[in-house]
Amino acid sequence: MTVTKAGKDTNAASVMVEVRSVRKSFGPLEVLKGVDLTVAAGEVTVILGPSGSGKSTLLRIVNHLEKADAGWVSVGGALIGCRRSGDKLYELPEREVLKQRTRIGFVFQDFRLFPHLTVLENVVEAPVWALKRPRDAATASAVALLVRVGLADKADAYPRQLSGGQRQRVAVARALALEPGLLLFDEPTSALDPELVGEVLDVIKDLARRGTTMIVVTHEIGFAREIADTVVFMDDGRVVERGAPDDVLNAPRHARTKAFLSKVL
Ligand code: ADP
Ligand code: MG
Repeated sequence: MTVTKAGKDTNAASVMVEVRSVRKSFGPLEVLKGVDLTVAAGEVTVILGPSGSGKSTLLRIVNHLEKADAGWVSVGGALIGCRRSGDKLYELPEREVLKQRTRIGFVFQDFRLFPHLTVLENVVEAPVWALKRPRDAATASAVALLVRVGLADKADAYPRQLSGGQRQRVAVARALALEPGLLLFDEPTSALDPELVGEVLDVIKDLARRGTTMIVVTHEIGFAREIADTVVFMDDGRVVERGAPDDVLNAPRHARTKAFLSKVL
């Protein structure tokens, strides 16, 4: 039996994310060279790797912000952006893709809040528009989410009035407002001053403890060790190494993983 840090038995749990043989090029540059990845429901996967190794592109393909040239991705059992018929894959219409995307939360390095909306409005708008939730219900849930990320007193503030750490916590609350089955984080603390990193990591740790399925790209190795059920090391468009944090971080098998860790640790 394999048990996640949040105490879920992943053998009994279903697969939440499956990435198979995914390739992606930008012009002549092949950025993903055949990537496979499996994430069980309730599992936290941390992706490490040098800049340019394809981590963001992989996350963007999982969320269908980018289309793979080859291979496929499934989230929660449904193929992302396409449907299978026999051996053939057919693209889904944009409307269907947008619907699929509402089940996936994405937190970016640079927050991407709506600057003209208050903190509360930032969290309320997504479920009202994307899930057609009644505004009162969405507002009640948003208030509860702001309490959870420690920002209840900032509900009426505008993003420009917040610190980077507070903005990123709003972005997490906004992602959670869609009640996603999967949360993706792309270097959520890289744009923050060092003293603000901890408050954002604490919010993500809380989600991990609740058994939220997450893929987190980060350079915070101590954090990875603490929350990851699985660590994936990527380099040059490939998954080089994958395993339990103790194995990959303490006893990496590949020279490239060792070289990377010796630089960031
Ligand atoms: P990482 O997140 O690991 O730093 P990325 O996935 O962002 O890596 O990028 C991998 C490579 O793909 C980089 O060389 C980057 O410059 C290139 N790349 C990413 N997105 C685009 C794009 N939209 N157009 C052209 N090149 C891109
Ligand atoms: Mg990146």
